[in-house]
Amino acid sequence: MTNAIAENEPHYEVEARRVLLDAFERYSPDRLAISFSGAEDVVLIDLARELVDDFAVFSLDTGRLHPETYRFIEDVRRFYRIDIELVSPNADDLAGFVKEKGLFSFFEDGHQECCTVRKTDPLRRKLADLDAWITGQRIDQSVTRVNLEHQEDDTAFGTSVHPIEKFNPLANWSGQDVWAYIRDHGVPYNALHDKGFVSIGCEPCTRAVGPHEHERNGRWWWEDGSAKECGLHAQNIARPIRIVS
Ligand code: SF4
Repeated sequence: MTNAIAENEPHYEVEARRVLLDAFERYSPDRLAISFSGAEDVVLIDLARELVDDFAVFSLDTGRLHPETYRFIEDVRRFYRIDIELVSPNADDLAGFVKEKGLFSFFEDGHQECCTVRKTDPLRRKLADLDAWITGQRIDQSVTRVNLEHQEDDTAFGTSVHPIEKFNPLANWSGQDVWAYIRDHGVPYNALHDKGFVSIGCEPCTRAVGPHEHERNGRWWWEDGSAKECGLHAQNIARPIRIVS
């Protein structure tokens, strides 16, 4: 393991490296993985590959991602020469859901049911084989994330029998910090970002936002902003919201 922390790095970057190092020192690659969404959290992969030789990455393939996102995932795989495990929905669950509700039920009765089948249940399956995971969540992404910690017990997926720890190394990064890093380090990024997309999820549930619009307005825009989590980070909604200045 190499210690790649340099003195002239911004404080949030030093912080992120320390959180990642802590995670990698405490968990072996078969018990810890980076969750890569196919968006700006590619920064996690760039930071990780400077710190350790061996780390695991997975991505939830909902089956509804943009073509640009699939191409980006492949670009990242080749660029860093890493494996990215694509975690898919259970075929029977998905077939049953689509048969009953069709392909766009989220526009009528909310995104939770579809996200459960396509994201949350597959993630639960994946996390059953891990003890910890690393996410690209940031405080500035949503009102549901203002209390985000660098390290937390995953109360959504962990249990008393199988606790799961969640690391959020980018918690204190702003969107601008992420983009400064991407530009300064020549990190590959999703082509959708050049088309006005900021927060990128599934194709039907993601849209471009204006220059002064909050990035979360581009996700599930037909729903209430205080509940815009897909279940992957459901504990963000459950805990009380503290307003930070
Ligand atoms: S983001 Fe939209 S398409 Fe993707 S799993 Fe959730 S509801 Fe379904």
